[in-house]
Amino acid sequence: MTTDDRNFRLSRDVLPRRTQATLTLDLDARTFSGEAELTLSVEQPVRSLVLHAVELDVSRAEVHGGGRTSRASVRVQPVSETVALDLDAELPKGEARLHLAWTGRFTGGLRGLYLAGSVAATQFEAADARRVFPCFDEPAFKCTWALTVKVPPGLVALSNGRVLAEELEGHHRKVRFAETEVLPSYLVALVVGPLVSTAEETAAGIPVRTWCLEEKQALLGFGQQTALAVLPRLQDYFGLPYAFGKLDQVGIPDFEAGAMENAGLITYREVALLLDPATAPLSVQKRVAEVVTHELAHQWFGNWVTMVWWDDLWLNEAFATWMAYKIVDGWRPDWRVWLDFDTGKATALHLDALRSTHPIRGTVANAAEATESFDAITYEKGGAVLRMIEGFLGEESFRAGIRDYMRRHARANAVADDLWGALARASHAPVVELANAWIRQSGYPVVSVGLEGNRVRVSQGRFFSEPGLAGPETWPVPLVLAWGDDRGRHTLPFLLEGQSGEVTLEAAGPVRWLDANAGSTGFYRVAYSAELLAALGRSLAALLPAERIGLLADQWALVRAGRARIADFLDLVLAFGAESDHAVLDELVGRLAYVEARLVDGDDQERFRRLVEGLFLPRLRQMGWDPVAGETDQDRLRRAALLRAVAGVARARSVLAETAPRVDRVLNGQRTALDPNLVDTAVAVTARDGDGELFDRFRAAFPQEPDPAVKRRYLLALTAFERPELVDRAQAMLLDGAVPLQDFASFVHGMLANREAREGSWKLLRDRWSTVMEKTAGAPMLLRRVVEALGNLRERRHLDEARSFLSAHPVAEAQQAVAQTLERLAQDVALRERLVPEVSVWLRGSSTT
Ligand SMILES: [Zn+2]
Repeated sequence: MTTDDRNFRLSRDVLPRRTQATLTLDLDARTFSGEAELTLSVEQPVRSLVLHAVELDVSRAEVHGGGRTSRASVRVQPVSETVALDLDAELPKGEARLHLAWTGRFTGGLRGLYLAGSVAATQFEAADARRVFPCFDEPAFKCTWALTVKVPPGLVALSNGRVLAEELEGHHRKVRFAETEVLPSYLVALVVGPLVSTAEETAAGIPVRTWCLEEKQALLGFGQQTALAVLPRLQDYFGLPYAFGKLDQVGIPDFEAGAMENAGLITYREVALLLDPATAPLSVQKRVAEVVTHELAHQWFGNWVTMVWWDDLWLNEAFATWMAYKIVDGWRPDWRVWLDFDTGKATALHLDALRSTHPIRGTVANAAEATESFDAITYEKGGAVLRMIEGFLGEESFRAGIRDYMRRHARANAVADDLWGALARASHAPVVELANAWIRQSGYPVVSVGLEGNRVRVSQGRFFSEPGLAGPETWPVPLVLAWGDDRGRHTLPFLLEGQSGEVTLEAAGPVRWLDANAGSTGFYRVAYSAELLAALGRSLAALLPAERIGLLADQWALVRAGRARIADFLDLVLAFGAESDHAVLDELVGRLAYVEARLVDGDDQERFRRLVEGLFLPRLRQMGWDPVAGETDQDRLRRAALLRAVAGVARARSVLAETAPRVDRVLNGQRTALDPNLVDTAVAVTARDGDGELFDRFRAAFPQEPDPAVKRRYLLALTAFERPELVDRAQAMLLDGAVPLQDFASFVHGMLANREAREGSWKLLRDRWSTVMEKTAGAPMLLRRVVEALGNLRERRHLDEARSFLSAHPVAEAQQAVAQTLERLAQDVALRERLVPEVSVWLRGSSTT
């Protein structure tokens, strides 16, 4: 039997029931040793036990079973990341105990057990528990975990269970944790470091604490209060109590993902947990609330009921994504977080319009492939499809189905069809067919809509962003139509099955306008007939903000796809000139920023900037810099969007001259010199124009700064400077180790987005590619984001260089990202070549007359 195959999966002949283990950590030497007793259920007689292990030196393996004890010989199988323990006699059916002793090393990346500054932390998902424990490292093998650690005295040690006992033992403090509920190995966690916490508080009877390094203690309250607020709401939704006894949340100083849902011990990138509500932008507060809620939702969906295999990882992530917005929206409706959800959905719509996209649920042969599929399709498209299904079934039926699923598969594993089955039973609707069409088929439809009298005609085809491409696929599309007549606004759900369909509106008088994606809750694009589009342009105020955003985004996508004219799009933008909703303004500014960055050259650049300035500067002047009494968050965010337009896109001199002194005051410690929502933009635009002295101030401030959002702001500001000598200094930082590993990809992104730094940074990355690969070796998600940052390149020669470079240096860990980035870049380059002349003509007034 060979088990040394990359796609090897464990047999079900032997199942773990309990893992009792003691780990002794040496943080200085970055090594550890372990001892364990595994209780096994032998389902079929075996001569060999196979467990996962990577770079562990197993010195002892002894099996007690069938009335005898035998020493096993250890065979290391590196390709399948396993060890085979060969026995001298057959191990019969029944219970057995396996005793193991081993040693290992901390990893140099951000997975397995690693050192983040002074904190030792674990990150096991998808398959890195095997770097710490010999174990059954697949999600279907759930067992209880009774862990003990020996750590240097004076350090806090946290794990999934609460602390049962601690004592000094020689040079170590020995900490014993309560045995857990059954858990798959990827949810086991350990954090050891000089940490401090909030006071313990309870939510629904569950003790909750939030932890960080001492110097950041003032930033703990918001994450703690969020957990206390949302935990009971989740419990209500699932109709099931939180199962893991206690909850600890910890900010880890260097962390690859946003956060990790380890049962009872959630670990976070600091910027996703720690903030000061007095100085944090609202966007940062909402993001922290969303991440905390996402990880807590996993405590049920994923931790209590676990996927059988990584091919259903998408369901874990899609569900937690959708649930977080649902719960936060119920808690803080004033935040309007569904509009933020739409921002993520827009990323997924963009990605999913490429030829190189993938279905939500694909075949996953091994854990590395699972890691690669953590992208916008998995999270945001998956979440959007769940939202669409909830809309189709109704909130009550959907929740009843979820509750049934949680009860039936309690403590166990399940597959997606188990969930669809539960939803179908609760709703008596054809959920399985609907869901499978959306999750097994790549892409999504563009729905063409026309109106004759009161009759709406719709048809669908697959949408590609590449001009001229089309596909034969169709989807069951749960459309919701919104329209206006003499009596006001109405909505009508309508399931489009097959290529085309029609429906008659019961309108009073003529239909004044029609939106074919009401509330923008559907995952599709809409192409309106010219008459309907003109009617929408005249009726913008009748649409919800999410619908206005959807209209802009769809029209822009049609321009990219060669199905609509840029001149008409720019005319539509002018029709939005009086827009007051900040979320819609954000969408507008995002499109204008793209045009400014890629579609205007020479004199046109200045012409375009002055147009944007003319549109938005008077409104910014009217609002002023400082919030006035009685202002709402919506007002503050509107001011922030206007500043992005005027200072960020238009580079308006008069405003930049006022921005710099305010940033100076903020840097001098006067944090209230700028409204928190303005600081990110103000710092970035000031850095762009800044001199060496300002560069030095950011460079000195970022390593000292305790607030992670401020730290990140100052670090990334260094990528925005445009003076050549400062571009050089930022480039030198790129690879010299000054940038924390977790921020490396964002730093690369910033350098490539900076038009003065792009050329040199791109050359540097190619020249020093082996260093880039070494840096990201233990952090494959970061490597993927580095590849994605190449999408900031602009010219055809860049595209040619990127193609030949990436084919000469294939990135095995990020093949999807390479294909997607090159495809998207090719489209951006072609779009630029096609549209620069058209935008130029429009700017000179020919098309607006
Ligand atoms: Zn998640």
